[in-house]
Amino acid sequence: MRAPGPGALGGRTGYAAVALAVLIAVTAGLLWWKPWAPEARGAKPLAFTTAAGGSARFGTGEKLYRYKVRAEDGLKISPDQFAAEVDKVLGDVRRGWAAGGQWSFERVAADPVDFTVYLATPESTDRICGQYGLDTGGWVNCAANRQVVINLKRWTELSEFYVGKAEEYHALAVNHEVGHILGQGHVDCPGAGAPAPVMMQQIKGLHGCVPNGRPYGEDGALLTGPPLPVTAPSP
Ligand SMILES: [Zn+2]
Repeated sequence: MRAPGPGALGGRTGYAAVALAVLIAVTAGLLWWKPWAPEARGAKPLAFTTAAGGSARFGTGEKLYRYKVRAEDGLKISPDQFAAEVDKVLGDVRRGWAAGGQWSFERVAADPVDFTVYLATPESTDRICGQYGLDTGGWVNCAANRQVVINLKRWTELSEFYVGKAEEYHALAVNHEVGHILGQGHVDCPGAGAPAPVMMQQIKGLHGCVPNGRPYGEDGALLTGPPLPVTAPSP
């Protein structure tokens, strides 16, 4: 049998093969490239991965909140890494929400859950929170409809009052949003020099308080302040 020579793809067969390849490429390109309708812009499905495994039950409070932790795909922080930090915050039985004696927490890897904690890019945070009428402005975290959304920008850049204090800011972010899940509303600073309550919107200013990311003080007392009137939905 004659081995195919250099001219095997020459002539009519070769042109047909090239033409077919071009046709396939152009067709695939036309199918792939669809100009987005304005309302469809950014409508790429959100993709998150749930952290594996689970935690012990944190605290002894009668009302058990089961939660799962998810991180958006493609981030440098893995779902398991993020879950470890969330667990540390919710597992703080000395100064976390579990310290109050009313609530306990347990991370699980699958539904049913009472709430979910997401780590999401600013764009995805805006999309999720915006569905519930909350304007996160590419900037802040939110809690809505049993979903806690932690903005990657905040998680990595912290806030101006927490420079160099990642652990304390992470505690604040998780405790503030989970506080909403527990039914806690926003409060103000109770007085100059006092620890800022976690339910303050601390990112907007400390109003004389000092930075604090824990709902309870060293003495076990709830760190709170005068409730703020709810004028409009605000994260
Ligand atoms: Zn809030």
